[in-house]
Amino acid sequence: MAWYKDGTKLEKIDDANFDKIWKPGETPPDNGIYECQGCGDEIASNKGVKLPTQNHSQHSPAEGEIRWKMIVCCENR
Ligand SMILES: [Zn+2]
Repeated sequence: MAWYKDGTKLEKIDDANFDKIWKPGETPPDNGIYECQGCGDEIASNKGVKLPTQNHSQHSPAEGEIRWKMIVCCENR
């Protein structure tokens, strides 16, 4: 789970980009924090950069494949 201190810096929005599941090697359109749906690991990822396969812990069979989901999107101007 991602942590934060200053709640005034986060805003809840309902955007479909939060629902998409990404595979390792895919390049999502948003800068943000992505969570692996198998093991719960979180990473920061920049748009245009492939989501990682390396440096990711090995999953148990119960955890299944690495699947990334955006949990926090960074605002860019
Ligand atoms: Zn994982």
